[in-house]
Amino acid sequence: MSSVLTRTRLAVPPTPAVPDVHGGQVPVAVGEPLIRLRGVTKTYGSGSAAFQALRGVDLDIAAGEFVAVMGPSGSGKSTAMNILGCLDTPTSGTYQFRGVAVQRLSRDQRARLRRRWLGFVFQGFNLLARTTALENVELPLLYRGVPRAQRHVAAAKALASVGLAGWETHTPAELSGGQQQRVAIARAIVTEPAVLLADEPTGNLDSQRSREIMELLRELNVRQQITVLMVTHEPDMAAYARRVVHFVDGLVESDTPRTDEGA
Ligand code: ADP
Repeated sequence: MSSVLTRTRLAVPPTPAVPDVHGGQVPVAVGEPLIRLRGVTKTYGSGSAAFQALRGVDLDIAAGEFVAVMGPSGSGKSTAMNILGCLDTPTSGTYQFRGVAVQRLSRDQRARLRRRWLGFVFQGFNLLARTTALENVELPLLYRGVPRAQRHVAAAKALASVGLAGWETHTPAELSGGQQQRVAIARAIVTEPAVLLADEPTGNLDSQRSREIMELLRELNVRQQITVLMVTHEPDMAAYARRVVHFVDGLVESDTPRTDEGA
């Protein structure tokens, strides 16, 4: 009964839908893979200076996968991740996210989709200096207009889930690199995204800290069912994934499931 009232009050269509507080409504088709790329190309520049960074990529990713994206420098990994992260659009081809044709969305709709469903983790952590861990993690909720008390609770919970309970009031300068990346991961998951896109998340960390971060990503994947897409150059890190997609010259050269033995 109360859900009917809530729907009426928010004028949210019956199903499926996302309340506005979470960044707008994105229709969801049932039975589709989470991510589907078909014939995706990306050309930078034009005329004689044109360069085709992606040359027809087909890729399906199901909910709950942990995928490592590998390949030599310049092979199109970042271009593909930018498209998957709705930060850029293909020159041709299609990108379906939960059945929604992303290439047909307006810039605003893409931004809403990104804020609602995607979380990002970068090599350089990208935290605000002189801002506490809790406030850093609260930021995505602040942008969504979530009230202060709710933000605090959700951010504290996210920090606890990355093993940083008790570190809420520390600023990045007071944290180790590994801890800073944990804060960045907490910030990425505080909005409860479907997908975490991680661009060389351990690139700035020593091997022990790298392993801890990979364990954390695997735990989030398994326990919270977050789909993880991670670019890495390091086979040791790719070993935590259950599937390795290898780019060469703007194409998927190989797409290999991994068994748990090597992890
Ligand atoms: P990777 O992440 O695998 O190193 P990228 O996707 O960054 O590869 O780049 C693929 C190719 O596209 C590279 O040759 C790169 O120089 C080129 N490229 C990437 N971004 C741009 C851009 N904004 N303008 C022109 N060329 C670009």
